Amino acid sequence: MTARHIDGKAHAAKLRATVADHVARLKQENGITPGLAVVLVGDDPASGVYVRSKGRQTVEAGMNSFEHRLDARASEAELLALIGRLNDDPGVHGILVQLPLPDHLNEALVINAIDPAKDVDGFHISNAGLLATGQKSMVPCTPLGCLMLLRDHHPGALAGMEAVVIGRSNIVGKPMAQLLLGESCTVTIAHSRTRSLPEVVRRADIVVAAVGRAEMVPGDWIKEGATVIDVGINRIERDGRKVLVGDVEFASASERAGAITPVPGGVGPMTIACLLANTVTACCRANGLPEPEDLTM
Ligand code: NAD
Repeated sequence: MTARHIDGKAHAAKLRATVADHVARLKQENGITPGLAVVLVGDDPASGVYVRSKGRQTVEAGMNSFEHRLDARASEAELLALIGRLNDDPGVHGILVQLPLPDHLNEALVINAIDPAKDVDGFHISNAGLLATGQKSMVPCTPLGCLMLLRDHHPGALAGMEAVVIGRSNIVGKPMAQLLLGESCTVTIAHSRTRSLPEVVRRADIVVAAVGRAEMVPGDWIKEGATVIDVGINRIERDGRKVLVGDVEFASASERAGAITPVPGGVGPMTIACLLANTVTACCRANGLPEPEDLTM
């Protein structure tokens, strides 16, 4: 079998256009412009690139973008005071604190200081709890993007499928598993201590790899016809050139899978598009307006 390549770039462009339509309607019919505040502490170059990209795409969707940069030595009190101001600001509907934070700052404390209704990353403990109990929440952007790709590929047919999520982080693995459970898949969460990982992966109709280890899943672990969602982003050197690869060996997995996301151009572009979607959802909820069904689960 030669896998269909799932075009995350095209999906993300479509989602961003849908977001922009909703934003235009909110402005025209309700006089409201959704606003997203992004907080960056320190000068990590990769984080700087992500924050700029988020800001640009926020503005392109017609929303307000507020960027707050703090010095790498900023104190926890300073950061918490900023989050407090953003929580109270009615023009800010979404707040994102770019991770990782410098070591002296307590990440959990900082994330849990964000108003859960504005927590567009979906990392607040309340949102994690709401998701785990099947209630309306803010869903973390990367797993939400993965679910949208999966739903599009298997319209109405995820129930009962065997899904294996490799990785158990709070950001990707765990919420991804919750979403698949919500779709009535039979879900296994594999991780660094899982025994017989190849056998576990071989029984999966859906494989979501979120590990951060270049091409650790070879093609012969993939069940014939399975759908592979590769979340991993790994920078490696190949033939003297720096390239990005996923957690799955793309060429060999493409020979067995029914569908697969490439890296780059698969899950990555969906993440920021889902961040914009979550901001519009948060804005609608804050204003007591019906939330657009095509932006959430
Ligand atoms: P993480 O380091 O927090 O978690 C990695 C997980 O992989 C852990 O739960 C660990 O148990 C598991 N693991 C490690 N070694 C393993 C092994 N040998 N076998 C099985 N499991 C193993 O990482 P994360 O934040 O969840 O990110 C995972 C990957 O996804 C990274 O490459 C990251 O860059 C990427 N990522 C991409 C996006 C995107 O937008 N595409 C967003 C977030 C993360």
